[in-house]
Amino acid sequence: MSIVSNIWRSLRAKLFLAHLLVIIVGVVTMVVAIVTLAPTLFDRLVAAMIGPNTTTMNGMMGGMQPIITQAFRAAMVEALLLSAGAATLAAVATSLFVSARIVTPLQRLLAASRRIAGGHYAERVPTGATDELGALATQFNTMAAALEAAERRRVALIGDVAHELRTPLATLEGYTEGLLDGVVEPGAATWALLHDEVGRLRRLVQDLQELSRAEARQIPLHIQPATPTVLVAQALARVAAQFVEKQITLTNLVPADLPMVQADSDRIIQVLINLLGNALRYTPPAGAVRVSAEQRDGAVAFHVADSGIGITPAHLPQLFERFYRVDKARSRALGGSGIGLTIAKALVEAHDGRIWAESQGAGQGATFSFSLPVTPRS
Ligand code: ADP
Repeated sequence: MSIVSNIWRSLRAKLFLAHLLVIIVGVVTMVVAIVTLAPTLFDRLVAAMIGPNTTTMNGMMGGMQPIITQAFRAAMVEALLLSAGAATLAAVATSLFVSARIVTPLQRLLAASRRIAGGHYAERVPTGATDELGALATQFNTMAAALEAAERRRVALIGDVAHELRTPLATLEGYTEGLLDGVVEPGAATWALLHDEVGRLRRLVQDLQELSRAEARQIPLHIQPATPTVLVAQALARVAAQFVEKQITLTNLVPADLPMVQADSDRIIQVLINLLGNALRYTPPAGAVRVSAEQRDGAVAFHVADSGIGITPAHLPQLFERFYRVDKARSRALGGSGIGLTIAKALVEAHDGRIWAESQGAGQGATFSFSLPVTPRS
């Protein structure tokens, strides 16, 4: 019983048995054919060769025919058994060859997937073959690389979050200790500072929650045709007061004749508010922010351009990474959590759109843009 179950569990044994089975069926079929059909065919052939008129020959052959037929049958069966032995040896050789080509790569994949499951994400398998097994190995390596990258991001995220929490917590700890020791005066300024730090922590936690949902595509999107001018007008209405307060001119240059876009209005307004909030934060008073939009290859591109502090080109590609800040101290001081753009990117990409940043350099202002697909004409 255990031998049968062992064979059942081994692909190598199953391949060998499959080859053997083909040979057994072949041999049995041929033996049956030789025993039943061959004598009749043989007799008919001999009769045809001798001919109907050679009576003496016929008489002689007639006496010997059963012996000849029997000898012929025995010779055939013996030859067949010998060739069955040779075929069995060939089956062993073929199975070994096929096993090496199929079973060994599969065993390597199995061992590698076990090691990956054990946390060794750097594991890879050779991808030499050009057949389906080669494709499977390549796909396996791609999956392992994705897992490794996800694991690296997870570790980095924990490190980043710990780092982000440390600063406000250290401030809170310092002030509360100072208050307890009587070194810090318990006045309005102290309470306001403590309140700011708690607010920073709350924003960080909210943003992290939002980011994890956006990256896992768990934010339900209700994508419908939306009018670009309406999206922009609604976002501007929510931030206009803050621009007035900081004396920054806010101009809406979005043309009215743009086609509808595929958007979850609430989420796209959230992206616009985020970009406008950054423009407000990184533009000194008396500056200007312009919002525009244009149609480009099946999409509408929205732009938020400011006359603020600008960004040196080297930083542009990293801006959308989690916790990336060009000037850490300045961003923290201005209340930024460093993940607003990462959330915006996840939201825009969930709409099959694209987001990017441009700037001529420090002091030259910056333009943040994103595109959304145009609603197809029905
Ligand atoms: P933060 O909360 O720090 O603003 P974001 O993810 O929104 O985080 O932005 C990441 C970084 O990109 C910011 O810290 C800042 O350095 C830079 N940045 C974003 N918008 C602008 C802008 N309009 N002008 C200059 N720098 C910007």
